[in-house]
Amino acid sequence: MEKSGLTYSVSGQQWEEVSGYDENMNTIRTYQVCNVFDNNQNNWVRTKYIRRRGAQRIHVEMKFSVRDCSSIPNVPGSCKETFNLYYYESDADTATRTSPAWMENPWIKVDTIAADESFSQVDLGGRVMKINTEVRSFGPVSRNGFYLAFQDYGGCMSLIAVRVFYRKCPRIITNGALFQETLSGAESTSLVAARGVCIPNAEEVDVPIKLYCNGDGEWMVPIGRCMCKAGNEAVENGTVCRACPSGFFKPTQGDESCMQCPINSRTTSEGAINCICRNGYYRTDSDPLQMPCTTVPSAPQNVISSVNETSVMLEWMPPRDSGGREDVVFNIICKSCGGGRGGCTRCGDNVQFLPRQLGLTESRVYISDLLAHTQYTFEVQAVNGVSDQSPYSPQYASVNITTNQAAPSTVSIMHQVSRTVDSITLTWSQPDQPNGVILDYELQYYEKDQSEYNSTTIRSQTNTVVIRGLKPGSIYVFQVRARTVAGFGRYSGKMYFQTMTEEEYNTSIQEKLPLIIGSAAAGLVFLIAVVVIIIVCNRRRGFDRADSEYTDKLQHYTSGHSERANLFLGVELMTPGMKIYIDPFTYEDPNEAVREFAKEIDISCVKIEQVIGAGEFGEVCSGNLKLPGKREMFVAIKTLKSGYTEKQRRDFLSEASIMGQFDHPNVIHLEGVVTKSSPVMIITEFMENGSLDSFLRQNDGQFTVIQLVGMLRGIASGMKYLADMNYVHRDLAARNILVNSNLVCKVSDFGLSRFLEDDTSDPTYTSALGGKIPIRWTAPEAIQYRKFTSASDVWSYGIVMWEVMSYGERPYWDMTNQDVINAIEQDYRLPPPMDCPSALHQLMLDCWQKDRNNRPKFSQIVNNLDKMIRNPNMLKAMTPLSSGVHLPLLDRSIPDFSSFSTVDEWLDAIKMGQYKDNFANADFTTFDVVSQMTMDDILRVGVTLAGHQKKILNSVQMMRAQMNQIQSVEV
Ligand code: AMP
Repeated sequence: MEKSGLTYSVSGQQWEEVSGYDENMNTIRTYQVCNVFDNNQNNWVRTKYIRRRGAQRIHVEMKFSVRDCSSIPNVPGSCKETFNLYYYESDADTATRTSPAWMENPWIKVDTIAADESFSQVDLGGRVMKINTEVRSFGPVSRNGFYLAFQDYGGCMSLIAVRVFYRKCPRIITNGALFQETLSGAESTSLVAARGVCIPNAEEVDVPIKLYCNGDGEWMVPIGRCMCKAGNEAVENGTVCRACPSGFFKPTQGDESCMQCPINSRTTSEGAINCICRNGYYRTDSDPLQMPCTTVPSAPQNVISSVNETSVMLEWMPPRDSGGREDVVFNIICKSCGGGRGGCTRCGDNVQFLPRQLGLTESRVYISDLLAHTQYTFEVQAVNGVSDQSPYSPQYASVNITTNQAAPSTVSIMHQVSRTVDSITLTWSQPDQPNGVILDYELQYYEKDQSEYNSTTIRSQTNTVVIRGLKPGSIYVFQVRARTVAGFGRYSGKMYFQTMTEEEYNTSIQEKLPLIIGSAAAGLVFLIAVVVIIIVCNRRRGFDRADSEYTDKLQHYTSGHSERANLFLGVELMTPGMKIYIDPFTYEDPNEAVREFAKEIDISCVKIEQVIGAGEFGEVCSGNLKLPGKREMFVAIKTLKSGYTEKQRRDFLSEASIMGQFDHPNVIHLEGVVTKSSPVMIITEFMENGSLDSFLRQNDGQFTVIQLVGMLRGIASGMKYLADMNYVHRDLAARNILVNSNLVCKVSDFGLSRFLEDDTSDPTYTSALGGKIPIRWTAPEAIQYRKFTSASDVWSYGIVMWEVMSYGERPYWDMTNQDVINAIEQDYRLPPPMDCPSALHQLMLDCWQKDRNNRPKFSQIVNNLDKMIRNPNMLKAMTPLSSGVHLPLLDRSIPDFSSFSTVDEWLDAIKMGQYKDNFANADFTTFDVVSQMTMDDILRVGVTLAGHQKKILNSVQMMRAQMNQIQSVEV
């Protein structure tokens, strides 16, 4: 109690300050008043000025004692046991004795205070009293300070102590935030909101953090919270956020503690939010940070392959080391290594992979639609979720396979050419992958309403067939399949065609009548023309039978072939509108020809992969061409080496200007040229098996006669196209034919420069007056007086036939060019190569007719070869091996055994050296025993390839014949 309070009595006796005792008998000073016997008491005691100090609500704790009225004898009824508490607000200490006036209003009453306990014995002289404590509060207060006043109105009491206070909430750190001291509100129920500030390294979660300070000075209703940021953990009861120590990390904001780095990872500093993987270890975006870092898998193990025709099943074991991951899958890389040209190339899009090529989850894949007779390398890569982060390409296991012969693929579409009441004429295109020469087609059909079991089957050697004997107006179901030496392909899908009804037929006949009459007349004119030309050309020629020094090398060309040749003389009608070849050198500016005939390709579309050969002007490479809007394709790229002269550039590009004028499946196709950047390039379709001569040498004896004839037919067809365009090749030879992966042969090498430049570095080409000439391939008139025509190309074609049938043997072997010229002049010709059907050798001889007019035209050659392909019986007859004294020893491809001293040497000479051990192991070590070998013996020594068996058997037969000859001579 403020001792310097002011007391005042409005009526009665004033409060007085006296000494007394508290409950514990301590001496205390109190204010007392006790005028119970006087009526109308009104006694005030006031505190001095109390500063508010920001508080809005003031609490007053009063300690006092009150005398029980009933304990006072004879007390009047006006005796009170209560007093009143007042307050008065003021900005300054201005109160005086008279102001504010001693009454409610200006004073504000807080409450009437009653004692909980009163005492009965008045003992103001220091004896025990009952002390009450009461607390009251008031507010809001807003002035700088206030006074309190206590009013007695007729009681007997003692005011012992008055404590005045306000309430506040203390400064605290809670929920990750610091809250400053906050005073309670004006009402006891008020809540004062306070914003917290996150402790260092903590951040608010979602909503701003708040606490409320209530009237009792207690914090309550927390809203929001702050949590330690990623890389920091809460310590010291959540009052501090501490950075994770090194080797630990915490990925997110929150209450969790820092975690130890998972295996194969580490931190670089304190406060890490993640651990980085050690070198060679990785994490995918979806890998949890707690997961150990992982690495790439090792290679798959034990890849095994089982080849079935042109399909292969690959199976393997999973990698030994999955890299610590569960998501290992496998990719298959397919490379075809056809033609033994060293490099392998990626397989094209047509190869099928089941279930898929990439991302295989099982350890097996079925690969189909491969090319027949082709070597493939399959790489089985193991990859997992982190493989693409590794700088190294995936580890793989590879397997090499060679496909077998495959049946042709299906015919995809059939068209109806025409129909009548009882017939339908159908045509279809060749299967996409014939996989060899198509021998014939089989067509199966039945009436739609009938069962498939009642179907009829017919064979056709062409892709057009007339089906007769059908019912009018009926729908028939047709399916067709192709056959090669490998057997039938699958039937095409079912296609439906309908015969005409009688009515339809009658109407159509009436419409066509004038046309039929017109074409019959035209046919008559054509027939007459044919007859006249055949008569004019039917001349006979005689042949000298003179013996000559070439007898042991070449066949004297004695048979009367002129009649046969005449068979070829038909009428060649130039197709109207047929394009004619334009010599680029007729252009004043040869660059103009390039612009006209060759498409300019932007170098950015070209990707060179590897060098595959050497051309005349620079390297030849393989690569990819991706033209906008077109599929990427594999191409060959001829480059012009740097430092070229303008003339060399012109000559180099002249080949493109020529090639660019051609468009035929058997002529190499020009994709375009790159002339606007360096190096200058000519880009052509890619021919996987390279040039024909080396391809055949590498595959000696590996093809059927039908396959070889198929290749020859292709070349003849390409040459027919060129001849029709009036283009004379001048250098037709197996080395200038390219072979693709389907064994399709295409005429190439249209460079003119060889004939123009006087460069004798290549012995194939001999300088002649006015240019160089490949003597062995060139017709006599072209050698003698440079008469190059399509007929001289036909001569060269005959040589190509001989090269093909002898698997790349050198024409005229090691004879000198001059000997070759002389021998030809004396009507000697190359003999049939080993196993060459007579019909083919006959065709060669026709091509080598001295008089070029008697040589067949390319169109006739194509027809003739087609006939052979359709009737393989025509190819059965072989030129018989001569025997006895008159053995002509024509076939220089089978050398005379007597010039060798051992069987090994002889085997080397017939290019069968690989069987030396087989022969030795089976005791075939002398010519005597070898000459008696039968096919069974050859099989038994372990020669399994049919071509090699034949070659050895022929050589053995030849050896026998030569032995007989020697014996006869000795006799
Ligand atoms: P060339 O200059 O035309 O004689 O070509 C040289 C060599 O490159 C040839 O013998 C072939 O081996 C090779 N070559 C040329 N063109 C192609 C092509 N279109 N596809 C594949 N190889 C080719």
